[in-house]
Amino acid sequence: MSHQIKCEHCGEWTDPSLDKCTYCGKTLREEEKKVKASSNRLKDSLEPQLITINDDDHPILKLFKRVVQLGQMIFYAIITFLVWVTSWTIG
Ligand SMILES: [Zn+2]
Repeated sequence: MSHQIKCEHCGEWTDPSLDKCTYCGKTLREEEKKVKASSNRLKDSLEPQLITINDDDHPILKLFKRVVQLGQMIFYAIITFLVWVTSWTIG
């Protein structure tokens, strides 16, 4: 018999390859999925959203956008560093 997991809803042992418990029909590993989803959202919000430079932009506008991009990159580098330091200090 293959490895089974215990259903968090009814306590019966069921097939972990299935999304739902074969006994009560409720979603398995619901909490685990929620945690994963929220951590993905957090990662997305920390992902740098740089402004885009278009080829047909005015040269001065391009230069201005490059400066803004540089500023954004420095900003995100600082945020990433702070997050890293915080997680390293706590954990
Ligand atoms: Zn169940």
